[in-house]
Amino acid sequence: MDLENLKKIAKDFVDQRDWRKFQTTKELAANTSVEANELLELFMWRDGKEIDSKLLTGGDSELLRKVKNETADVFFSCLAIADQVGFDLGEAFLDKMGELEKRYDKEKVKGKVVKIHAKD
Ligand SMILES: [Mg+2]
Repeated sequence: MDLENLKKIAKDFVDQRDWRKFQTTKELAANTSVEANELLELFMWRDGKEIDSKLLTGGDSELLRKVKNETADVFFSCLAIADQVGFDLGEAFLDKMGELEKRYDKEKVKGKVVKIHAKD
């Protein structure tokens, strides 16, 4: 399913409940942060490599269900922002990936942990 169809599903969900009147871009951005932190909370105080091992081998199906659920919450919120502001999330993603390709030259950063800040 393409992003426009997913954005319409998110838009319809909001409109059918008459929730748009409560939505501002600021509230949606805050919601995105809250949902991202709900995802992060699933891993808090746990060993990252151990968790990955369980997730990748199917050793913790309940955690995998929760990770999917919280990731979908973040995605829903991103779709809602794109709908609210009226931009193409797929195009924004591709623009961002182009920016990251330039900032993180694959020959220079390959195999290294680096943080290069944007110049804007
Ligand atoms: Mg959530």
